[in-house]
Amino acid sequence: MLCSKQARHLNVWDRNIFSLQKPRVQAMPLRSIGDSKSQRGGKLQGKVALVTASTEGIGFATARSLAQEGASVVLSSRLEENVERAVTELRHENLNVAGTTCNAAKSADREKLISMAVKEYGGIDILVSNAAVNPFFGNILDTTEDMWDKVLDVNVKAMFMMSKLVVPHMEKRGGGSIVMVSSIAGFQPIQFLGPYSVSKTALLGLTKALALELAPLNIRVNCVAPGLIKTNFSSALWKNESLAGEFLKNVSMKRIGELKEISGVISFLCSDDATYITGETLVAAGGMYSRL
Ligand code: NAP
Repeated sequence: MLCSKQARHLNVWDRNIFSLQKPRVQAMPLRSIGDSKSQRGGKLQGKVALVTASTEGIGFATARSLAQEGASVVLSSRLEENVERAVTELRHENLNVAGTTCNAAKSADREKLISMAVKEYGGIDILVSNAAVNPFFGNILDTTEDMWDKVLDVNVKAMFMMSKLVVPHMEKRGGGSIVMVSSIAGFQPIQFLGPYSVSKTALLGLTKALALELAPLNIRVNCVAPGLIKTNFSSALWKNESLAGEFLKNVSMKRIGELKEISGVISFLCSDDATYITGETLVAAGGMYSRL
């Protein structure tokens, strides 16, 4: 865990990594691109997947993994330029992807994303809900109502609303798979990340509540709790040797996780290899002591 001195150094973490960044440009619908056909076979052949917050980091790696397994994948994030870049990169890999802007916290954007997937690919089989923010870094007693509203809106409520929207479409296909991205912080709150950690704990419960209700519809709902993974989101931590060292004291494997080590787990949970798994949270954190 971080001491107060380290926390002061980590203001940049608050601002740049866990912060709710304002879009630099007005999010505009990107014309969907669905004509790049992956010729690969795979565990997700014929499936249509939506991944939120998928133009960078864990979301982007997940979109790639699902598409490599044969799924048609709709990418999304707030900024059009990011969506264009991400879609172009994956299409150069001959993967079947489309994209549109979607701020996961906005109801109209969520509906636009669903409509686009249905229009483009004819239905929805998989949802990976990945968007999260952290509007605050410091002592939990210094947090305000606005901060709580923001973190719960994006990290919890939007996850539920996205799930609710995809259910009728999955039902039409005879079932589906929903995966939420939580965090190791959901098990053991990270110091100075109180509201963020609590929001990630809420997802463990949301996963179970939805799984119970959706099992009769053959829709599985699971959750992934990553440890420290190399992304922009966490770069202030892993780029700082002393902070990373402090964090890794609690990690059995003594190393930071790679993107593939999360996207692979998500891809597994979405596949038919996981047909008897629902309501579970799979921790991929290199064996963190503090979880116990
Ligand atoms: P990242 O590399 O910083 O990527 C963030 C992505 O989210 C970008 O594509 C960004 O694109 C998009 N985004 C941000 N706010 C959004 C919003 N409101 N609606 C839609 N898209 C949004 O982040 P990451 O590390 O992969 O984090 C992804 C998830 O993993 C989060 O749920 C995080 O809590 C979880 N996680 C991460 C770690 C870690 O160590 N990295 C550990 C545990 C859990 P735009 O700017 O274009 O919107």
